Amino acid sequence: MQPETNNNWETIIGLEVHAQLSTESKIFCRCSTRFGDEPNSNTCPVCLGLPGALPVLNWRAVELAARAALALGLHINERSIFARKNYFYPDLPKGYQISQYDQPFSADGVLEIMTADRDEAGHAHDWKPMRVRITRLHLEEDAGKNVHEGLPDVDRFSYIDLNRAGTPLAEIVTEPDFRSSWEAYDYVNHVRRALQWVGASEADMEKGNLRCEANVSVRKKGENVFGTKVELKNLNSVRFMQKAIEFEVDRHIKTLESGGLQETRLWDERLSETRPMRSKEEAHDYRYFPEPDLPPLLVTGEFIEDVKGSLPEMPGPRAKRFIEQYGLSFADASQLTAERSVADYYEAAVEASGGNARGTANWIRSELLRELENAGIAAEESPIPAPELGALVRLIDEGKISGKQGKDVLVEMFSSGKPAAAIVEERGLVQVSDTGEIDHVIDEVIAASPNQLEQYRSGKEALFGFFVGQVMKASKGKANPKIVNERLREKLKNE
Ligand SMILES: [Zn+2]
Repeated sequence: MQPETNNNWETIIGLEVHAQLSTESKIFCRCSTRFGDEPNSNTCPVCLGLPGALPVLNWRAVELAARAALALGLHINERSIFARKNYFYPDLPKGYQISQYDQPFSADGVLEIMTADRDEAGHAHDWKPMRVRITRLHLEEDAGKNVHEGLPDVDRFSYIDLNRAGTPLAEIVTEPDFRSSWEAYDYVNHVRRALQWVGASEADMEKGNLRCEANVSVRKKGENVFGTKVELKNLNSVRFMQKAIEFEVDRHIKTLESGGLQETRLWDERLSETRPMRSKEEAHDYRYFPEPDLPPLLVTGEFIEDVKGSLPEMPGPRAKRFIEQYGLSFADASQLTAERSVADYYEAAVEASGGNARGTANWIRSELLRELENAGIAAEESPIPAPELGALVRLIDEGKISGKQGKDVLVEMFSSGKPAAAIVEERGLVQVSDTGEIDHVIDEVIAASPNQLEQYRSGKEALFGFFVGQVMKASKGKANPKIVNERLREKLKNE
């Protein structure tokens, strides 16, 4: 049994997500934000924190933060203030991080997400809507990185790479609204997809451009005060976050009776457990004060309206529309709106198919997405353009090729990039739907099988399959099976 479903205890979780905004240059200087460049090659006096260097705000970061805030249902403040968050760490040469504190960029959001219970194998069931209150989304700069691996003498030296110092982040903080690790998991996935959807962030946890922290506590059911809180950091995948919360809740319940504890714990991926951070790492006293080198950040109502108007239809509403407009199931609609590129692809393909919405959904879900996944490419880079997939669905609907042939054609379209019609023609695949031609083959098969015919007519109806097989074989698989069935029934009855 999951600890959080333990009848006596209730789990309380709040989340902080840091998302790197997809700007090409840093938030307060012109250095590149490119990932994977030579260490310390993308630095300048501003992001190195040299004395006298002055930050200048990158407006693109503000636009992307606005997209993120609106996509998550937050209210944008027309005036916000940058603040210095003071702490010492080797990857922070200035001795402070420019962040926002008591007057953040945006606040007071209510986000509706879908969440589900999971069985022991982790399979979701009973999806239901949940409202999450988002306290704030503010802008800040990232710190650099300490490197402890892959360089000479790492046992004796620490290395510091400041390429990441000054990349723009949106920090997104929720109220303690989650009651299970899976709710937290579904929320982070929702946020990740929303940020990608509006182009605000790549939100790729493996590259480190989406990071989360969880504040976890447990209390006896029915109590109103919160239990002692534990912070979980260094959670570098959504699944690890879920597991870390699960582990922590379990540990917490077991030890709660022996006195409270307030500590920050790190998730150790290798050991699948949490361990305490060193005490000096957890003492927060950041002595925030307004950043004297930057003016207040001002945005107009018109700017906010413009950003709002430029946002695409979001995944939730789009999935709902897919269900209503195209008659898709919830599972189909959810999968087809998992990424914006897939949803766009789907709608373009439906149109080209002549309106076969469910057939197109099936071809994308069961065939195309598998090919894309095997090849490791995104829908917008698919070697089969959406109109061509629609054309393939149409060829099948019109009876020109069978569904089985269609699968082979799709695989070849994927590897060669050729249109469906060209492959069908090259391979001579065109399905025979001409009844005269099919009748002719049927007559030959019947004439060549007098024994089977007699047995069939004397009641051995299972032999029908034998005749279908013979006709398909004689037509080299090209006869339209539906017409073969119809004509055969007719012929075997009347002759
Ligand atoms: Zn710089």
